[in-house]
Amino acid sequence: MSAALPPALRHLVQAFTRLPGVGEKTALRFAMHLLTDQRSVLDTLGQALSDAASRLATCEACGNIAERDAPDTDAAATPVRCSICADSRRDPSQLCVVAKVQDLMAVERSGAMRGRYFVLGRLLSPLDGIGPEELPLAQLDHQITSSGVQELVIATPPSVEGEATALHLAREFGRRVRVTRIASGIPHGGDLEFADPITLGRAMAGRRGLDG
Ligand SMILES: [Zn+2]
Repeated sequence: MSAALPPALRHLVQAFTRLPGVGEKTALRFAMHLLTDQRSVLDTLGQALSDAASRLATCEACGNIAERDAPDTDAAATPVRCSICADSRRDPSQLCVVAKVQDLMAVERSGAMRGRYFVLGRLLSPLDGIGPEELPLAQLDHQITSSGVQELVIATPPSVEGEATALHLAREFGRRVRVTRIASGIPHGGDLEFADPITLGRAMAGRRGLDG
């Protein structure tokens, strides 16, 4: 990066390059856009980032993003629960296991999950050196026991890593609770003609009876 940049601008550009997929050129473009064309956005963005840092934390029970009632400077001191874990209307017997928070949000948008969630944060991937000991199995175990979970709904993605993780969880917890796996198949509005053989095979394997 050019040493001619004022230090504050250099720091801003460096901060942007920490974001996924953002190189130095793009980071400089973002910074200049904010400083020249969108000066008002700079204040809004600064405030939003500061609020996020002081108010948002990871839910101690499920790994979802949770918001504190009041900004907390000593973030580690107060345990925080997300709105889903705090909602007493949720069915405590169902726990949906997802890989990441965005997946939790997607399942939640579907309205199909009445229970609570558990975010793994990662998937098994022996090639990348991620073995079972890297998964938060102790926390999941604790959550199952403390909430009286009866069904573990595995909603990891339909990938090699997602399937390996699902199988491992079934082996680990299958004797204590019912372990189910979300079906995968043809997307709504999708065309069978263009579906790949694995997806179509799974859709066939996951077929169910039609009522009526
Ligand atoms: Zn939670």
